[in-house]
Amino acid sequence: SIVVTGATGHLGRHVVQQLLEKVPAEQVTAVVRDEAKAADLAARGVRLAVADYNAPETFEGLFAAGDKVLLISGNEFDKGRVRQHTVVIDAAKAAGVALLAYTSAPGGLTAALADDHRATEEVLLASGLPYSLLRNGWYHENYTENLAPVLEHGAVVQAAGDGRVSSAARADYAAAAVAVLTGEGHENTTYELGGDEAWGFAEYAAELSRRTGREIAYTPVSGEALTGILTGAGLPGPLAAILAGVDASIEKGELVITSGDLARLTGRPATPLAEAITAALKG
Ligand code: NDP
Repeated sequence: SIVVTGATGHLGRHVVQQLLEKVPAEQVTAVVRDEAKAADLAARGVRLAVADYNAPETFEGLFAAGDKVLLISGNEFDKGRVRQHTVVIDAAKAAGVALLAYTSAPGGLTAALADDHRATEEVLLASGLPYSLLRNGWYHENYTENLAPVLEHGAVVQAAGDGRVSSAARADYAAAAVAVLTGEGHENTTYELGGDEAWGFAEYAAELSRRTGREIAYTPVSGEALTGILTGAGLPGPLAAILAGVDASIEKGELVITSGDLARLTGRPATPLAEAITAALKG
């Protein structure tokens, strides 16, 4: 079967949804921590497996030989994500799965955020399993789902200078993952995934102004200032520092993706940023 971890997360839900358009539900297994969160998936005939990256025994016997597995990277930054991901890779290795695809970070990303991904990639390569590295670029939704403070202050505040980002919608990255999980010939591949067009924060602010009819400007700040603003808004210090680090990488152009891999895998253009803005303003 096709097994998806993190299936009740934002990306995982898109993946399962899109898988169901391509393969019978009984061929899809959703790995979840909380069965109750996945009741809708079970109702559609998806098989559920309950497991936690922090509990290796919960992954024992979960995979079968020949499975194609999508390991969606975790979000518990303080719990040792490399160790967590290794639990899944070890179980996949023991079972002899046919493919392990992992949602990684762009190869050119030097921000601290990428460290866990680089280390997980190393564990996966050393395992000898057939792998596919889905090096996902940034999500549109990282911005469009956090519009409240932008609209409140009429300002896009980032520490990215004139840097540009090739973001794409989560649904686009999900479509790329589904192409790899349901297609042939993706063993031992690395895909650099991103949107078709890179944009800068001044353009983003201008687009928001057009859509809302209000004056919204880009206010570039230093990384230190951004960290202060984010912690002031209630974000934990380490997370604020990680996000400021990402902006520094954006300024250096590390989140500009020019491979064309995403559109090639999905067979269609990526979702334009403007579309994600429209959806967010409606929602
Ligand atoms: P979410 O936070 O929505 O989903 C994370 C998923 O990981 C959830 O399903 C969560 O389970 C699962 N998970 C976390 N910890 C564990 C654990 N200990 N055991 C089992 N499952 C666990 O993130 P997204 O879906 O939006 O993104 C997927 C991943 O991509 C993120 O986790 C992160 O690593 C990375 N990311 C990428 C970004 C980008 O722009 N490319 C931006 C942000 C994150 P549960 O549903 O039970 O909570």
